[in-house]
Amino acid sequence: MSSTFQTSSNNSEQVPPLADRVSSIRKRVADAAALSNRNSDDITLIAVTKFHPAELVSDVLAAGITDIGESRPQELVQKQSLLADISDLQWHFVGQLQRNKAKIVRNANCIIHSVDRSSLLDALSNGAQFEHPQKIFLQLNLSDDPARGGVAADQLLPLAEYTLASGGFEVLGVMAVPRLGEPLAQEFTQIAEASTQLQSLIPSATAISAGMSGDFEEAIKFGATHLRIGTAITGPRATSR
Ligand SMILES: *Cc1c(COP(=O)(O)O)cnc(C)c1O
Repeated sequence: MSSTFQTSSNNSEQVPPLADRVSSIRKRVADAAALSNRNSDDITLIAVTKFHPAELVSDVLAAGITDIGESRPQELVQKQSLLADISDLQWHFVGQLQRNKAKIVRNANCIIHSVDRSSLLDALSNGAQFEHPQKIFLQLNLSDDPARGGVAADQLLPLAEYTLASGGFEVLGVMAVPRLGEPLAQEFTQIAEASTQLQSLIPSATAISAGMSGDFEEAIKFGATHLRIGTAITGPRATSR
C-alpha cells in the first residue's frame, strides 16, 4: 500500500531532469524572442549555479549550456579548478564583489556583471598589466537601498566615464535586478533607458544583463541579451541569500 502511494506521489511530483528543463527554457527563450522580432542567437543563456556542486555544473554543460554564472569568488575559482579540462566554457561573476576579493575574480578570466563603483574598478585594475581588457557590465540599482548593489541611475554615466578613464576595461552594457513587487514592465523600461544612456557614451555597450527564472520572458521583450537563470535550470538551491 505505502509503496504504491509513494510511487504515484513520486511520479506526479517528479522534477523534470536537467536536460529537459534546459530545453524547455530554450524553447521559451526562442518563443519570447520571436514575439519581439528578435533573433534568439543574440541572447546568451547563463546558468547560475551558485550553491550547487561542480557535478551539477557538469550536468548543465552536458545539456549544452556554455555560460556559467557564480556569485561568490571562492566558489567560482573552486569550480573552475574542478572543471579545468572543459574548454568552450565562459564563466560569469554575477554576485556583489568586495574590493578585497576583486583580484580573485580578475584572475578568474570571467565576465563581471556587478561593477558598481569606482573603488571596485581601482581594485580590479590595481596597477597590474593585464593581457586582455576585463569585460564588465555596470550594475544599476533600481532601488533606494545601497545594500542591494548597483549604481544609482544618475551615477551611471559618471561611473562609465571613470571606467573609460581607467583603461583596461571593456564595458559590455548594463546589468540590473528588478525590484520585488514593482511592475516588471516599469523595471525593465528603466533598465532599457539606462542602456540607451550608456550607449550615448559607449556606443558598443549594447548588452543588457537582465532576466532571471521568474521574469526572463518579460526581460527579453525589453531587450535583455544576457539571461541569468538559476533555479529554473538547476532546481532549488540548498542555501539562499
Ligand atoms: C542567483 C542569481 C540569479 C538567478 O536567480 P534565479 O531566480 O534562481 O533564476 C540571477 N542573478 C543574480 C545576480 C543572482 O544572484
